[in-house]
Amino acid sequence: RPLMARPAIAKSTVSWDDIGGLGDVIDRLKEVIVWPLQHRDRFRRLGIRPPRGVLLHGPPGTGKTMLAKAAASEVSASFIPVAIPDLIKGEVGESEKALVAVFETAKRSPSILFLDEIEAIFGVREQAGETVRKLVSQLFLEMDNIPDDASMVILAATNEPDLVDPSILRAGRLDMVIHIPRPSEEGRLDILRRATRHLQIEGSDELLAWVAQHSLSGAEIRSAVRGACYAAIQRGSRTLAKPDFTRALESLHTGPEGSFC
Ligand code: ATP
Repeated sequence: RPLMARPAIAKSTVSWDDIGGLGDVIDRLKEVIVWPLQHRDRFRRLGIRPPRGVLLHGPPGTGKTMLAKAAASEVSASFIPVAIPDLIKGEVGESEKALVAVFETAKRSPSILFLDEIEAIFGVREQAGETVRKLVSQLFLEMDNIPDDASMVILAATNEPDLVDPSILRAGRLDMVIHIPRPSEEGRLDILRRATRHLQIEGSDELLAWVAQHSLSGAEIRSAVRGACYAAIQRGSRTLAKPDFTRALESLHTGPEGSFC
């Protein structure tokens, strides 16, 4: 099977409203991604060059992918996700070709190109030798040759910023870096409120505060809500109650088996 013969393109339906606890990050992304794509002429007239790309770094499951998807839907741009480890798996020459195809697609219409696990392109550089070095060169070439009038923005994500080579942070490449932190308890409550806004919950305020205390990341909260929905369905109830969340959190914390991911 040819590697990424055709890049995956999606219309995202995630909105900023789905994302909790990251208000400041969202404001920042609106300024640097949404405004320039929405008001290109104004930016050009004022001679302001918005960032071509942004690096999002932070722990797993904190919403980096969600932010990229929401940015795409906010400006009605295509969401083009590329998992860098998949790209690296290609044969010599094939990976570069796939990368060129991805950039060609992204340049054609308003797009958010999401390069996930970007550290992988550097992390294995020594072992993989020539192939990976060529891929890095190709990536830089593509980034450096995006025409000024192309409506594409690159969002790259990593859980391991220490492995990211600073050469990718040069102006015109990923010229902005934003840290996505683990959510605070207040942030987790915000995520929970948004994730459950269409659900009926018994003793909602108190119960959600309790769940926020007992969960860690946004991804875990999503799993807890899904698990609680299953538990409620199993008892034939339309309303989620504390035992449903207790069950869901227990199965989450006792390992992957039987948990909802
Ligand atoms: P990874 O680094 O592992 O790829 P990520 O940071 O890209 O993770 P996402 O894939 O965006 O994380 O999040 C996983 C899921 O967790 C989302 O689909 C969403 O349901 C939930 N989630 C994570 N963070 C948030 C958040 N801040 N607000 C709402 N939901 C969140």
